[in-house]
Amino acid sequence: MTSESSKGIQIPPGEFKKIGYELIDQIALFLDTIAQRPVTTEKSSIELMDLLGDDPLPELGRPPGEILSKATELLFNYSLLNGHPKFSGYITSSPAPLGALADLLASAVNPNVGAYSLSPVATEIEKQTVRWLAAFVGLPATCGGLLVSGGNMANFTAFITARTIKGPPEIKEEGISNESMKLTVYCPVSTHSWIEKAAVLFGLGARSVRWIALNKAGQMDNRLLEQKINEDLSNGCRPLMVIGNAGDVSTGAVDDLEGVAAICKKYMLWFHVDGAYGAPAAAVPELKHLFDGIEKADSVAMDPHKWLYSPLEAGCVLVKDPHHLLTTFSSHPVYYNFNNDSNNPTLNYYEYGFQNSRGFRALKIWTVLQQMGKAGYIGLINENIALSRLLFQLAEAHSELEAVTQNLSITTFRFVPEACQADPVGHELYLNKLNEALVNQLQAGGEVFLSNAVVMGKYCLRSCLVNFRTSKKDIHEIVDVVIREGRNVHQNLISKQGNY
Ligand SMILES: *Cc1c(COP(=O)(O)O)cnc(C)c1O
Repeated sequence: MTSESSKGIQIPPGEFKKIGYELIDQIALFLDTIAQRPVTTEKSSIELMDLLGDDPLPELGRPPGEILSKATELLFNYSLLNGHPKFSGYITSSPAPLGALADLLASAVNPNVGAYSLSPVATEIEKQTVRWLAAFVGLPATCGGLLVSGGNMANFTAFITARTIKGPPEIKEEGISNESMKLTVYCPVSTHSWIEKAAVLFGLGARSVRWIALNKAGQMDNRLLEQKINEDLSNGCRPLMVIGNAGDVSTGAVDDLEGVAAICKKYMLWFHVDGAYGAPAAAVPELKHLFDGIEKADSVAMDPHKWLYSPLEAGCVLVKDPHHLLTTFSSHPVYYNFNNDSNNPTLNYYEYGFQNSRGFRALKIWTVLQQMGKAGYIGLINENIALSRLLFQLAEAHSELEAVTQNLSITTFRFVPEACQADPVGHELYLNKLNEALVNQLQAGGEVFLSNAVVMGKYCLRSCLVNFRTSKKDIHEIVDVVIREGRNVHQNLISKQGNY
């Protein structure tokens, strides 16, 4: 028996199929024609607000089919399409289509993966997914972890675990306000902004972050790291953790993780690797050596929604000793309800991290991991790297472009007009202004989408390829658009200011 008032929210099976099939038809067409669409909308926020109108919440409901087709039209026409072959900005991947279907399935069943009893098979699928991800990036089979919303949350989970394990022993009872020694953390200056947010949110304060300068290869200078730790120790600080990047967010550089691991061991500090973007490249045999030492990390953050092409949101934190997660996040006595024994494998994910109720993120990752297999993923990752190197080579070869950095699948470069080529250093300020205007122009134009990075004081265009649709042809066309628009922006700037 269906209650009267629930009739409005339920959809009869015939209608559900009809609008569901229509939606799938529309999505299939959208994906098939994505390359012919603008990368992003030219409409402003005000225009989009006008489009939605300012009606209050309707008093009475409307038919679901009508609402879905309106939503479809809005999303297809006024979104930034990170699945477009010429999108290579920030680090947002093209989403695997199977992942989208898996998300639909997950929300239809709606397991709450906070507690085992609420999500029996979903919990097991998440466990298997976490195990596969750990193996993919080369971590020991004994490590454990969980899926979270993204890199920030994965890094936060590791940070707070490090604070619990390496901080004052009574931290769970007394907090850090009783601690007289300043708690400090160490990371290269290239570290993503999450570290500052974590230091602020989790009570250490932004000044507890020790930003370590880079060497010429763009890696944390480990000599300066050790020096800073010693200096802090002799000043009565209490160092907790060191962060190494496995693919920094601006240029994709991988720190000397082996070196960082040795320093952490010597000073008994927590060793965290932020591999939100780059960790999957550790699976590529030719690149594995870059990541040596990652297997010694106490924790690793990685983002399936970046280089594993999972639809948002999907981050993962992997911890060498998963008991540390329980110690940190469970309010039960340590080890309560936790058992590695396969006869009693109950795991309640709410005791592993920040969330209580949790969606079934694992399904979209678990399905696509099987669709691609390890070899398939390595092929895609390699292809993105090869295309990124091609972009770098094209920039090197073109007189109006300066190739700046290339690591993993990130290339930075800038436009240098003919008039500045004799003396780029003398025109540094102008070149920065020009390339900033060029990034804005390119992003507004809708043909291609790049973002920016500032590398050694140079404002650069930055391409990060985590996109399975991009081809060689796209890379050549991206370069053509950059040259054409670079010349236009330069002309506009000099006609406005009269010089450069
Ligand atoms: C993207 C990124 C983050 C933040 O991840 P989100 O998924 O955006 O929360 C942190 N660190 C690195 C190195 C990243 O590339």
